Amino acid sequence: MTRPIRATIDLSALRGNFAVARQRAEGAALWAVIKANAYGHGLMRAAGALDDLADGFALLDLEDAVALREAGFRQPILLLEGFFEADELPLLAEHRLTPVVHSLEQADMLTSAALPARLPVYLKLNTGMNRLGLFAEEFHAALTALDTSPSVSGITLMTHFADADNARGIDWQMARFEEAVQGCDHPVSLANSAALLRFAEARRGWVRPGIMLYGSSPFPQDGSAEALGLRPVMTLASQLVAVQELAAGERVGYGGLFTAERPMRIGIVACGYADGYPRHAPTGTPVLVEGRRTRTVGRVSMDMIMVDLEGIPDAGIGSPVVLWGEGLPVDDVAAAAGTVSYELLCALTPRVPVVEKE
Ligand SMILES: *Cc1c(COP(=O)(O)O)cnc(C)c1O
Repeated sequence: MTRPIRATIDLSALRGNFAVARQRAEGAALWAVIKANAYGHGLMRAAGALDDLADGFALLDLEDAVALREAGFRQPILLLEGFFEADELPLLAEHRLTPVVHSLEQADMLTSAALPARLPVYLKLNTGMNRLGLFAEEFHAALTALDTSPSVSGITLMTHFADADNARGIDWQMARFEEAVQGCDHPVSLANSAALLRFAEARRGWVRPGIMLYGSSPFPQDGSAEALGLRPVMTLASQLVAVQELAAGERVGYGGLFTAERPMRIGIVACGYADGYPRHAPTGTPVLVEGRRTRTVGRVSMDMIMVDLEGIPDAGIGSPVVLWGEGLPVDDVAAAAGTVSYELLCALTPRVPVVEKE
């Protein structure tokens, strides 16, 4: 017997969610965003499942892009932070990778390189996220330099939205984008998952869905994943490995953060922060035991969490537990823990065995 924790990755759900993105994109081409080990789901696994569906793959690390090429993936591959040193450029050209160019330094490295093949590039405009990208004036200088550079085969103009999932929306950034690109007839790339789902004007050129592919809502406060037609891809499941009968007044776990107000049964689950479960998830975070929704009690420890078994009298050692996924949206767990699904999914640790489901 091994420790009972497992992450099951449902590949048909991943493909189904991609189909939702395809349908909602209204003819725009789709990058499948598989950065951060495909949001914790496994880079090669996700790319394999989406191979015949995605128009391209978007990620961060050059090593990952090269690994995809070596595994035989032929689609365009977008490097979302571009390159970091000029000496990476020959490798980008050799593997037909598409870098984002978000700074004048990168534009200079590219225009002064002598490459074996021309590179397609994404030129990034900063429209208010104020993280990566060029302001309008620099953007035009870089565009002119890249347009005439023998290192460059084609240019797509991109930006990234800061508040596509919130009330502030994208109008203010769209206005800055439209103003800056006026008169340019290059293709564009604008939308993340939230913008793709919420804003028709962002469904142009190439869209860049990430989180929705993994079955989580990009705006859980306004609409559940299920209501969007998305299915969970990762199910993190384990079992009860012990049961305790507590007298009133007994406290639970490190720091004794939870006190039983009356006699109660609690279950001990083989899952802790060393598996990627958030340590800051407070008492009351939802969890499924025997398919019934209950709550965590006390502090999450490295290898275990404790759960309330009230109303689940048949629960005992070996009872199945779902931490998130099928039957318990990761968005609900993230909301209770004060974070977002992205962080929970990405944080799954290598010690958790992964099982694929077709
Ligand atoms: C991560 C990322 C995306 C995908 O965002 P989601 O919210 O996961 O859909 C799109 N574009 C860029 C530039 C990103 O970094």
